[in-house]
Amino acid sequence: MNRPPYRRSDEVAAYTYQADLYCPRCLIEAMIADGIAAPAARDMDTGDVLEQCAGALAIDRDDATSYDSSEFPKPVFIDWLSDDDSCTRCHAPL
Ligand SMILES: [Zn+2]
Repeated sequence: MNRPPYRRSDEVAAYTYQADLYCPRCLIEAMIADGIAAPAARDMDTGDVLEQCAGALAIDRDDATSYDSSEFPKPVFIDWLSDDDSCTRCHAPL
């Protein structure tokens, strides 16, 4: 996937899940480790994985106040991140 030359402030840059920050790739690994995503999710688009898993868990992703990030990942927008935020798992800067 090619990243656009500029990043929008409302772009989803990372995800928060169980009090940790993850880049999209590592989020999938964390979800697989927790058993809420299947290993096949590694080959899927992150958005598609979240959509499927949310459906399976009866999570309403359109209403982020209806669930807690301890049970299902919430998107983190670029504006919400500080310069020293990095992925919990691969330590890449977000
Ligand atoms: Zn990562």
